[in-house]
Amino acid sequence: MTATNQGLKALHEVHQRLQAVQEDLARGPRQIQAKKLAVDRKKTELEAFRQALKQARLTADQKNLQLKTNENKISELKAKLNAIGTNREYEILTGQIAADTMANSVLEDEILEALTKIDQVQIELKQSEAEVAAFEADLAKVTAEVAAREAGLKQQSEVFQVQVAAAEKFLPNDIVPQYRRAVQAFGADALASVQNRFCSHCNLQLTSQRMLELKGGKWMFCSCGRLMYAVADDH
Ligand SMILES: [Zn+2]
Repeated sequence: MTATNQGLKALHEVHQRLQAVQEDLARGPRQIQAKKLAVDRKKTELEAFRQALKQARLTADQKNLQLKTNENKISELKAKLNAIGTNREYEILTGQIAADTMANSVLEDEILEALTKIDQVQIELKQSEAEVAAFEADLAKVTAEVAAREAGLKQQSEVFQVQVAAAEKFLPNDIVPQYRRAVQAFGADALASVQNRFCSHCNLQLTSQRMLELKGGKWMFCSCGRLMYAVADDH
C-alpha cells in the first residue's frame, strides 16, 4: 500500500467516525421532536374527552330542565282538573296529562342515558389524563438524556473535525476542489475503498491497468463521484 492509499484509508475512517458522531447528535433533537408530537396527539385526545364531557353534561342539564318544566305543567293541569265543569273538558285535560306524563317517562330514560354517558366519558377522561402525564414524563426523560449526551458528542465531533482536517493535509491542491464537492454531497461516503477491483460504493469494476495505477498512488475519482483508494493485498 502506498502512502496515498494509506492516507486516504485513514482519512475515510476519520470521516466515518465524524459522521457517526454527527448523526448521533442529529438523532437527539429528532427523538425529542417525535416525543413532543406524541404528547400533542395525547393532549388533543384529552381535549376531545373534555369537550365530550361538557356536551354530555349540557345534554343532561337541558333534559332535566325540560323534565322539570313538564312536571310543573302537569301539576298545573292537575290543579285545573278540580275546577272542571264538563266531562268534555275533563277528558281533554286528562288526555294532556297522560301525554305529558308519557313524554316525561321518555325524558327520564334519556336523562339516565346522558348520566351513563357522563360516567363513561369521565373514566375515559381520567385515563387520557394519565396518558398525557406518562407521555410528558417520557418526553422529559428523553430530553434530559439527549441533553446529557450532547456535550460529550459535541466535544467528540470537534476532535474528529480536527482529525479530518489533519488527515486532509496530504491531498494535492488539484484534487481538493473535487474532493470538497464530494464531501459536500456525500459526507463520509465521499471516499470509497476498492476491493477485488470493485468500487465499494457502486461496484464498478476497474480495469487491471487502472487498478495498477490506483495501487501505485494515482488519484482517481470513480464515475460515482467517490475518491477511490486501494486496500492492502488487493490486485
Ligand atoms: Zn464507484
